[in-house]
Amino acid sequence: TEKESLNFIEQMIEKDIAEGKNESRVHTRFPPEPNGYLHIGHAKSICLNFGIAEKYKGLCNLRFDDTNPEKEETEYVDSIKEDIKWLGFDWGDREYYASDYFDQLYDFAVKLIKDGKAYIDDQSAEVISEQRGTPSQPGKASPHRERPVEESLSIFEDMKAGKYDEGTVVLRAKIDMSSPIMQMRDPVIYRIKKMAHHRTGDKWCIYPTYDFAHGQSDSIEGITHSLCTLEFAAHRPLYNWFIGNLGIFPSEQTEFARLNLGYTIVSKRKLRELVEEGHVDGWDDPRMPTISGIRRRGYTPESIRSFADKIGVAKRNGISDVALLEFSVREDLNKKANRVLGVLDPVKLIITNYPDGQTELLDAINNPEDESAGKRQIPFSKEIYIERDDFMEEPPNKFFRLGPDREVRLKYAYIVKCTGFKKNHAGAIEEIYAEYDPATKSGQDTTGKKVKGTLGWVDAQAGIPAEVRLYDRLFKTENLNNIEDDYRNHLNPDSLTIMDQAIVEPSVGNMTPGTQFQFERMGYFIIDKKSDSSKLTINRTVTLRDNWAK
Ligand code: ATP
Ligand code: MG
Ligand code: MG
Repeated sequence: TEKESLNFIEQMIEKDIAEGKNESRVHTRFPPEPNGYLHIGHAKSICLNFGIAEKYKGLCNLRFDDTNPEKEETEYVDSIKEDIKWLGFDWGDREYYASDYFDQLYDFAVKLIKDGKAYIDDQSAEVISEQRGTPSQPGKASPHRERPVEESLSIFEDMKAGKYDEGTVVLRAKIDMSSPIMQMRDPVIYRIKKMAHHRTGDKWCIYPTYDFAHGQSDSIEGITHSLCTLEFAAHRPLYNWFIGNLGIFPSEQTEFARLNLGYTIVSKRKLRELVEEGHVDGWDDPRMPTISGIRRRGYTPESIRSFADKIGVAKRNGISDVALLEFSVREDLNKKANRVLGVLDPVKLIITNYPDGQTELLDAINNPEDESAGKRQIPFSKEIYIERDDFMEEPPNKFFRLGPDREVRLKYAYIVKCTGFKKNHAGAIEEIYAEYDPATKSGQDTTGKKVKGTLGWVDAQAGIPAEVRLYDRLFKTENLNNIEDDYRNHLNPDSLTIMDQAIVEPSVGNMTPGTQFQFERMGYFIIDKKSDSSKLTINRTVTLRDNWAK
């Protein structure tokens, strides 16, 4: 059964190992372009590449695919490393940069020219693209296709020396202008970009294209299995052509389906637009599907890895259910997160028969799923806060919370009976009055009284004010791949609700940023990374599926 559960990539790798291919070595790489922050789709690729290396006792390189100076920045390099580490993967000393291969790649290009397999074209990009034609018809050869080797070599050198302007000349591989695969119709492999690079500075003014850099970088690093997303399938013949014609180590490319997630987008370009246009508050806004956003939201690395496991690896693109991601984090936090009490929209409850000025400390269980998490004590006194919607003036029968003459248990405390309430001028409930039964104290209840509802609460004096941010889906539409209009039209205007009057139990005040917990009955939360003593700020990670058991 172990065999049956292997995905198609693992099956391929086990076959390669069994056949002794590459001395049965397994070497993968994760190749991000440092032009933005990583998102949940990248997490899938990271889990796959590092996971395969771990499973087959191989290696996985982190390679920055930084051959295009336009949008690449060191800020992104740093965030990418932080995100991969946070996910729990370690590239050790195998941190590589495609830009470190610029000299080597240049030499490869020179070799192709010398072998009559590449030529300089000085037509415009428009003309080149027009001549390339359509898949059903052969393209038209450039008039420079037969340019003498010596001439191409010397122009290529001059290109490198900065003697040509941007857009005036390119180097093209000489392959097949009538290939049904468009990538093979004499692709451009070098172009001029007079632009500083985040690592090589002004050393270069010509840069290799993705296709000319990626496979050769794999090969230089001895990558055995180059795993990439389906859209690169059409590039595979070209990948193999370069490796074959350069006579270098034959890395092999295999494609798998991209991760798409419901109600969000996984495209760095669009995520950047959301940030730059102010639709969200930065790359790490907790609504963003970036790894840094998800982390700030309170997702755990374990939950992301378990999600990646559950969705598996497929050969066809689909869309993953966000409910599965939410399930994964609930499953993880249920075991790990301590329970605390908090009230997001508070209304005061006064226990009229409770002694004035008295405070007692009640025992509360930190985590019913984990005995070692122990207990804590929470203060209780005459005035407490409860959730506004836990009270109804005229409740229907099925409402098991508080209403006039109704009884509920206050979690870890007593059974109380509502004796009245007061409204303000606007007609909103301002105070609720109740009487408690001292014989019903939790754990020591001798009355045998049964009530249907249990409410959370926070002591009015000891409670701490907090701002709690409730997040919902960033988009209203599940499948954003199928829309015909602008994706911005599908943004959910209610993706953020700020509860700025929340009151939380005192223990929350001692939690440091990043601490995760469950507000009983409400969901899992995390202290925001920017929270401080002047303003306790809390993010909701996910709601609870079920209400708490009594
Ligand atoms: P984007 O389209 O968001 O800009 P990209 O593919 O250009 O993504 P890269 O930095 O080049 O981003 O990606 C690094 C690696 O992550 C590549 O191997 C890429 O195939 C993989 N990857 C990117 N997006 C996804 C996704 N949605 N699902 C799985 N793998 C992905
Ligand atoms: Mg890319
Ligand atoms: Mg991209």
